[in-house]
Amino acid sequence: MKKKITIIEGDGIGPEIACEAKKVLNKISKLYGHQFEYEYKLAGGIAIDTVGECLPQETIDSCLSTDSTLLAAVGGYKWDNLAGDKRPEKALLGIRKIMGLYSNIRPSKLYKSLAASSPLRADITAKGIDFVIVRELTGGVYFGEHSTVTVDGELVATDIMIYSESEIERITKVAIAIANKRNNKITIVDKANILDTSRLWRVVCEKVLSTHPEITVDYMYVDNCSMQLLVRPFSFDVILTENMFGDILSDEASMITGTIGTIGSASLGEGSRGMYEPIHGSAPDIAGQNIANPIGMICSVSMMLRYSFGMNIEADNIDRAVEMVLERGYRTNDMMSNGAKHVSCSQMGELIVAALVKIV
Ligand code: NAD
Repeated sequence: MKKKITIIEGDGIGPEIACEAKKVLNKISKLYGHQFEYEYKLAGGIAIDTVGECLPQETIDSCLSTDSTLLAAVGGYKWDNLAGDKRPEKALLGIRKIMGLYSNIRPSKLYKSLAASSPLRADITAKGIDFVIVRELTGGVYFGEHSTVTVDGELVATDIMIYSESEIERITKVAIAIANKRNNKITIVDKANILDTSRLWRVVCEKVLSTHPEITVDYMYVDNCSMQLLVRPFSFDVILTENMFGDILSDEASMITGTIGTIGSASLGEGSRGMYEPIHGSAPDIAGQNIANPIGMICSVSMMLRYSFGMNIEADNIDRAVEMVLERGYRTNDMMSNGAKHVSCSQMGELIVAALVKIV
């Protein structure tokens, strides 16, 4: 297969982890005879510094014309004082909106060999953690109207949370497709005791799910879900939720697996084209030191091969290589524990590349 990939290295540790992801792609192309062509484009702080805007048209054109986009991370201290709509992170919302990427898929999987790094008790992690959060990505309060006005001499701010039936319907279908490939269980997370948008979610989800008797459904308030992730994470299969709740819960879901550094994500729309990125940020505190964990970025590559290119065997191969390297005890700083073998970002990437041998 021939595939064109837009690579956005972005800021902070972005270039370091993107470099390891490319090594993995190159090895996969060698093993399986694929041709991957890369278009490197700017976004985030580096784009602001270079061309004066966080999401240049050239980057948008590339994202819309290549087969998929890999994004490392954007943002950093240097741009923290810019106004909200000028900040590097605005590029992320822009790409999601322009590409119509309304679903975000974030797996939360505890590697057995990393169980000791989880902040959860051993009797909880022993039962395993393996679920997926399906987060709505282009609606809700992040995309509603925002305003700050003066009322009776004081500032009053408003953020509008908005959802339409069609937005809820299409993301529910994504969750069903994912649940069908797993254990057919969906937990819908909302705040239906307070919010109208949540009550609409329940009505629409119920309607869509009524034609899917194979799915077991339960509803959970977001505050309860944040607790259950800590005490019964093993009970979840697919969590379906709106934009902001998904944003918050997915960070919690990543930390219970031991580190934010090992998890990738997929953002998808109607076609096969998507954007793939690790769930962490640009980690400016450790940038340029070759100590970042590249696994979340490498797992994003695996998700891209699986969801956008239909290369399931190649994706399984990457997942297996990551697991193998972790089982052999290699750890970057963020995963380090007694007796483990400490490696740098590039060494971790090279170990994973070396563990990739052709499986069919
Ligand atoms: P962060 O995820 O960048 O960092 C949080 C902590 O986790 C830091 O201590 C960092 O060193 C560590 N960390 C993160 N990724 C790591 C990795 N791969 N290996 C080892 N350690 C890792 O979150 P933050 O500090 O809140 O944000 C930093 C910048 O990133 C901000 O400008 C923020 O807006 C931006 N950000 C970008 C994205 C994105 O590009 N998708 C997502 C979140 C935050």
